[in-house]
Parts: sequence; C-alpha cells; structure tokens
Amino acid sequence: MTEDKVLDLIIVGGGASGMCAAISYQQTICSVSGEYGDVLILEKNDRVGKKVLATGNGRCNLSNHDMSLSHFHSHRGDFPSDVIGKITQNDVLGFLAGIGILTVSEGEKLFPMSKQASSVVDAFRFALSEYQIQVETTAVVEEIKSVEAVGNQRLYRILLQNGRVFFTKSVILACGGACAPALGTTGDGYRLLASLGHKVYAPKPSIVQITTDPAVTRLLNGLKVDCRLTLLCEGQSIATQDGEVLFTDYGLSGPAAFQVSGEVSRRVRKGILSVPMQISLCLFEKQAIQVLREALQQRIHAFAERPVEQLLLSVLPAKIGAAILKNALNRPLTVPISSLSEADIERVLTVLQDWRFKVTGTKSLEFAQTTIGGASCDEFNSKTMESLIQHNLYGCGEVLDVDGDCGGYNLQWAFSSGILAGQSAAHAIWGEQHAK
Ligand SMILES: Cc1cc2nc3c(=O)[nH]c(=O)nc-3n(C[C@H](O)[C@H](O)[C@H](O)COP(=O)(O)OP(=O)(O)OC[C@H]3O[C@@H](n4cnc5c(N)ncnc54)[C@H](O)[C@@H]3O)c2cc1C
Repeated sequence: MTEDKVLDLIIVGGGASGMCAAISYQQTICSVSGEYGDVLILEKNDRVGKKVLATGNGRCNLSNHDMSLSHFHSHRGDFPSDVIGKITQNDVLGFLAGIGILTVSEGEKLFPMSKQASSVVDAFRFALSEYQIQVETTAVVEEIKSVEAVGNQRLYRILLQNGRVFFTKSVILACGGACAPALGTTGDGYRLLASLGHKVYAPKPSIVQITTDPAVTRLLNGLKVDCRLTLLCEGQSIATQDGEVLFTDYGLSGPAAFQVSGEVSRRVRKGILSVPMQISLCLFEKQAIQVLREALQQRIHAFAERPVEQLLLSVLPAKIGAAILKNALNRPLTVPISSLSEADIERVLTVLQDWRFKVTGTKSLEFAQTTIGGASCDEFNSKTMESLIQHNLYGCGEVLDVDGDCGGYNLQWAFSSGILAGQSAAHAIWGEQHAK
C-alpha cells in the first residue's frame, strides 16, 4: 500500500459492520462500473472479526425472526427502523448467503447452520479477499482530518498510531462502541466523530449483569433458576422477561437479566441509580402455585418433625429453598415444620411468586455486550448513513447511537447499517467520478 495514493474508500474497523460495508461497496461499484474499487479496511486488532467470534457464546446469534422495532433503541427512535426498513432482514440473509453463510432458526433466533461464529468470520475473510478488499491489521486509527487537496477537492487524511498516513475520498467509520474493550472497541469512534464535529451521547453498558444488594445472591453464587423476571421502577413494572437467571456474588446475571439490563443502565447517572428499582423473580406460575399450596399444607402434618429448612425439599435446589424460606419466615429454619401456620405457607408462596431484589446498577462497559449511546443519529442520513456534517463520511454499527436487545438484534443492526453505508459510498464515489 503506497501512502501517497488516494484511495476511494477507507473503512475504519474490520468488525461486523465494517466487513459488510466493504463487501457491499465492492458489489455495488462492480455492478455499475464492471470493476472493483480501491477499498481498504484499517483494523486495530491483529485480525478482522474478533468480536464476531465471541458472539452468542461462540455460536453467533446473527438475527431474530421477531424484527419488531421495539427491539432497537436510540435517542432518534425512527432511525434504526428507517435503516432496517431499507436493508431488511431478508436483504441481510441474502447478502450473508451470497458470501457463504447459511442460517438456521432456534426458536426466534437465527444462527449460522454450523452454530459456529468462526465459520461466519471465515466466510467474511474469504469474501474480503474475493472482492479484492485490502486489509491492514494492527492499524490503529488515531486521527481523521478533512483536508483540501489540489483542485479544491476535499479528501480525508487518516493518521495511524504508528505515524503512517493515508488519503482517501471517503471514509466509513465502523469502529464499534465502547463495550468489551479487550476485543478492540475502546470508544475510539466516538473520539474520531467528535473531532469531526459530531455530537456523541455518553456510552453506557447494555446486555450486561445487573448489580443488586448482594446479601442473598452471594450465598447462591453459581446457581440458576428458570423464572419470569420483572423489572420494577418506583414500584411499577417496566420490563418482563422469561428465562434463566444466574445468581452471582454481585447480583443477577443470565439471559433474562441481560435482556432488561439496558433499562437499568439508562437510569444510572454518574454511577448511581437515579430512581429506586427492584427485580421480582416469579419462580412458579399460578397453576403450579395451586399444586404447591396443597402439597405444602400437607407437609405441615406429613413432615411435622422435620426442620422448616426442609419445607421446599425437591421443590427447589436446597440453597435457593432456604433463601426463600428465610425471606418469607421471620424465624430460625431449625424449628419443626409443625410450627408453621397456613398464613406462613401463604407467605412462602408469595415469595415464590414475587422474590424481590434491590437493584443498585449494572456491571461496567467492560462486561457488556453492547453500548447504549454513541454518535447522535440526528446528524446522519438514515437513507444513506452519510454524515450530515461531513461530506463522504459515513457511520454504521455500534458507533452510532443505536443498541438492540439481546437475541441477534445488534448484529442485525451492524449488518443492515454496514451494507447501506457501503452501497451509499459506492453510489456517491461513482456519481462523483461520472460527473467529471
Ligand atoms: C461477548 C459478546 C457477545 C455478543 N453476542 C452477540 C450475539 O450473539 N448477537 C448479536 O446480535 N450481538 C452480539 N454482540 C454484540 C455485537 O457483537 C456487536 O454489536 C457488533 O459486533 C457491532 O458491530 P460493529 O461492526 O459496530 O463493531 P465491532 O464488531 O465491535 O467492530 C469494530 C471494529 O473496529 C475496530 N476498531 C476500533 N477502534 C479502532 C481504531 N481506532 N482503528 C482501527 N480499528 C478500530 C475494533 O478492533 C473492531 O474490530 C455480542 C457482543 C459481545 C461483546
């Protein structure tokens, strides 16, 4: 790569959205000109797609059949829906199939048929090479400046951390958010976009563990329950999720906790929760509670001499049962079951349906799967992903202020927005070359 040469397009970040942008740029430019363009991906890591490898516990949950727009969040609510309305799930699946990624459903979620994220990254790597996309790894972009070149043409000057300089007619910023920094995403895109005049909403973690008063959860560290989790804000239910919850020494984790974590994170200001929040776990639905009511009442007589600690024997794992009983009954669990009244049984049944935990916040960006916040979508065109402030500058993926729920929504966003940015950059470059 000669550094004096002016490239057509540089993509900063070789993650999910950047790789899609590069391939869709080449597909589009080739369809109008019959030739591939001059595209370079600059990637900080020693290889592309490192975060994709970590997705879905290595299985890569790449989309979801339920594409309701309520699964996408942004200060500019209509932005993700505009983009996904333009590059739809079908378009994305067609694009992925075109580079060799076949998908399969598991419930509502979509995965590669192999259920291996590594096969998704391999397909992307082959496609980058087949579409003649240049890739420079361990290339950390430090600065992007819009500069005036000969003939009043504006170019971008890109400076790497190691001092190397590149010139390009257009740039796609695809360098992700600020979560999981070990995978390369340390919020560089926010700094780069801010330096070019863009407004950036402060990043917050989402799809992350929830911290609670640890007194109880610490004792249950490592245990899981299948339940209905309800998140309450000032006593009102604001989110409900069925699924697995994992108790940890700092609070609650697992898919159900991850799914509602964004709602907690949005209410944290300067590290402190701005409103009182609680989590309620419902371990048994109404029908099961009716069966349990009869069984527990019988136990008052049938197991009269056993300690109260054994009341929920075989109903729940022993430690969880003991924690529920401690919460419901204000007495030592060594007393005999015969000492319980029907009202005591009702108190136990209430906790089994509504076990409360005081929420204190979430774990940090380091542990999160996606970032709330980022570059304001008000300053991007949802039809093209082009900046409304800088000509020929595009943004896509997590660097923008869009975050999705757990379940394949973040990769869907990265793919849709990346494909659109690539197509738009190609049309713009082709249009400008043709206008001459
Ligand atoms: C553990 C984990 C599991 C996840 N599982 C799922 C899942 O199953 N389904 C789902 O939909 N989403 C999942 N996500 C979220 C999803 O991976 C991201 O939202 C998505 O990858 C974002 O795509 P992106 O292209 O915007 O950014 P990324 O894929 O993060 O790519 C950005 C790239 O830019 C590079 N970069 C950053 N700064 C610079 C710089 N200065 N110079 C050059 N390069 C730079 C980074 O190294 C990185 O490779 C998961 C995330 C994590 C952390």
